[in-house]
Amino acid sequence: MTETPETRAARAVDETRLWDRLMTMASYGALANGGVNRQALSPEDVAARRRMKRWADARGFQVTTDGIGNLFVRRPGSDPEAAPVMTGSHMDSQPTGGKFDGIYGVLAGLEALCALEDAGVATRRPIEVVAWTNEEGSRFRPGVMGSSVFAGRLALDDALGVADGDGITVASALAEVRAAETDIPVRDMGGPVASYIEAHIEQGPVLEAAGKTVGVVTGIQGIRWFDVEVTGREDHAGTTPLKTRKDALKAATGIVTALGRALADPDDVVRFTVGRFEAFPGAPSTVPGRVVFTIDLRHPDGATIERLSAAIAKTSVVEAAGCEVAVRETMNAAPTIFPDEMVATVRRHAEALEISHLELPSGAGHDAMNMHGLCPTGMVFIPCENGISHNEAEAATPGDCAAGARVLTACLTDLANR
Ligand SMILES: [Zn+2]
Repeated sequence: MTETPETRAARAVDETRLWDRLMTMASYGALANGGVNRQALSPEDVAARRRMKRWADARGFQVTTDGIGNLFVRRPGSDPEAAPVMTGSHMDSQPTGGKFDGIYGVLAGLEALCALEDAGVATRRPIEVVAWTNEEGSRFRPGVMGSSVFAGRLALDDALGVADGDGITVASALAEVRAAETDIPVRDMGGPVASYIEAHIEQGPVLEAAGKTVGVVTGIQGIRWFDVEVTGREDHAGTTPLKTRKDALKAATGIVTALGRALADPDDVVRFTVGRFEAFPGAPSTVPGRVVFTIDLRHPDGATIERLSAAIAKTSVVEAAGCEVAVRETMNAAPTIFPDEMVATVRRHAEALEISHLELPSGAGHDAMNMHGLCPTGMVFIPCENGISHNEAEAATPGDCAAGARVLTACLTDLANR
């Protein structure tokens, strides 16, 4: 291995320190089955933020926050005028989440800063680790909230006005966080960013199946959501002959089956999910007069997702079986394609560090979607056991966590010297 500032910093990544920090963070909101419930801006989130602040203070890194509660840890560069390179992810979790989703990217970023310190490697640009507020969207909707506000895609006031299930707004939850963080200065929203690179567990099975340690992420697949409403006619289940019925449930199941055929993909890249399916009035002796169901469609290619969306609309109407069908799109997030140069940077440093790697698109959405467009953006994945995530059983190995942090550290060192 050739000695460069990148490899020197990467080699200073401390596997034990990173793992111990992951386990410490997992204690904030720990659940009985090994998982974590750490909702955005909750007392558990505050505990994690205080912990982050103490680790940063111990190394002399500067900690700031902004109007939506994003938390920043900064290691200065030699050029005080230069825009920072940013890295990070989120500290909030699903209600029954795992120990690694999100928090891994934040702690891998902190580990990179510590490794740079330990290796005595200076960079021209500052490097900032960010913990984005409310990525999961489980307490406050929508998700990726902090990065959306930072990137100017969501107005701060709109985000602050969002309420959780108990009617507590982001603004009032944030006020409580602030009360615990009087030692953290509040900075202006947004600002120039030279580049952004996020580390995350894959949340899928590809790396593990291929026996690779690091994922070089090429982009994030597009997501489309649809609500489908099938309207038939309520009738008496005992007296109405089958041939005169307009059974909305029968039509809806026919549509779902036909969609499964229309969207069939021998390469298994298309993601098609009916996650909610409700029949009304939901009485045993009444023919269902109305069915509503949701479709979640994902694909990394923009033209393909466009074609499949058109197929959904067409198939739903063709298979209506005498009922009326309305298809309404409720979300359309175009695929993210990371710039070649960012993908190449991750690949180059994985190669230089002799860490096995594989290029793949992300199946899940991430804060990186928001940074893409603001600055050159990329991602680094590590495997998670059996591809399981958003589950208390989520698991990753100390060695893979460290390997991902090494690639991240090398990338950050490189990007911060450009
Ligand atoms: Zn995540």
